[in-house]
Order: sequence, then structure tokens, then C-alpha cells
Amino acid sequence: MTDEFDKLVNDDASLRENCDFCKESKLEVGKKTRYGSVVICRIGKAKNGWFATLSPKTGGDPRKDFTVQLMPFAHLTHFSQISSNRELAKNYGTLFSKISRSISKVMLEDKNLKALANSKELGISIATYGKCTTWKEKKEHLHVKIFPFRGNIGQPYTLDSSFERKKIRKDPKTGEEFVKMMPVRKVMIDDERFDFLSKLFIFLLDNSSTLSDHYNHIK
Ligand SMILES: [Zn+2]
Repeated sequence: MTDEFDKLVNDDASLRENCDFCKESKLEVGKKTRYGSVVICRIGKAKNGWFATLSPKTGGDPRKDFTVQLMPFAHLTHFSQISSNRELAKNYGTLFSKISRSISKVMLEDKNLKALANSKELGISIATYGKCTTWKEKKEHLHVKIFPFRGNIGQPYTLDSSFERKKIRKDPKTGEEFVKMMPVRKVMIDDERFDFLSKLFIFLLDNSSTLSDHYNHIK
């Protein structure tokens, strides 16, 4: 294999002092990061563990939408590195699914949503977004965002065939082609709602917690 590939998968994954994600990876569940996100789950140990945070902002409807971010404890920057360690890969898959289950339960606060829906609006749609690059400025912890896929956040992505089917428009001045999309504005989730959501996720992701009242509230 090429030297570049070896460098990529064997990159030093030890914690770095100047890395925000490395600092966040030491926070306990329930603690806030510098950006106001709350740690909602931790799984595994230093070299094979993952953690998830709930963002205080959403580009969707702040009364019901939110974004969860999943990251490794170790300073891993490329998806290729996940399968280097069996426990690391196992913990990734486990936490990814647990987060998705919890998001589904939180979305079901809206009792109209259905497991098999007749329309897009009534579906329990979840999407994930993550990318990794080796471009110096962007070589940070790999992270995956998981969120309800609806409203302005739920627009077709470039890889979707529905994106390709969008009407192609032309700028009359430059002749440049473009497609129309709804704007996305990130807004803060109201304090009370954010506190409720953080505690609810902590309960749903770890059933040993005593926060069951939160879940009973939406059941
Ligand atoms: Zn780091």
C-alpha cells in the first residue's frame, strides 16, 4: 500500500491540547461544552470510545427540531481509521443506532407521526451528515450529525435523485446555472426546551438514569 495510505490510517490519534473536541471528550454526561452543546452520552474507553452532544441551535423549527453530533474520544480525523480497532467500530455502530432510536422517540412527541406514513410530513425521517477530508485546515475530529430530516433542513441533498430533478435556472446576467433552495437560518433552542431535550436524551440513551419523568411526559 502507498505511504500516504499508511500515514492516513496510522495517524497519531492521541489527545491534543489545542483541540476542542479532545477537550470535550473528557466532559461527563450532562456537562456543557464551550459552544453550549450538552454531552448526552458516552460509550467505551479512551482509545475506543465515542460521545454525543446536543447542539443548542437548529436550522429547523426550534420548537421541535435539534441536531445530535457523534464524535470519537480519540483524535481521529478520517472514517478509514474506525475499522482499525474492533471495539472502536463496534461502539460507533452501537451509539449511532442508539442515537437514532432516541431521536425517533423524541420525534414521536408528535403523536401524528407514523412508522409507515402516507405522506412525507407524517414520516419519522432522520438524516445523517458527515464528511472527512485530509485538507490541513479541515483535518479535525471526524464527526457525524444526526437530525430530524424535515422542514428547511429536510431539503434534497446533492446526492439525492430529487436534487437532480430540481428545475435548473439561469442567471440572466451571467448565464450561470443554479437551483432554488430554501434558506437555512440557525436559531437557538429556547432554554427551557433545550434543558428538557438534553435530559430526555440522557434518559433515553442510558436507561439507568432517573429522569424517567421526562419520558413519561411524551409517552
Ligand atoms: Zn482532538
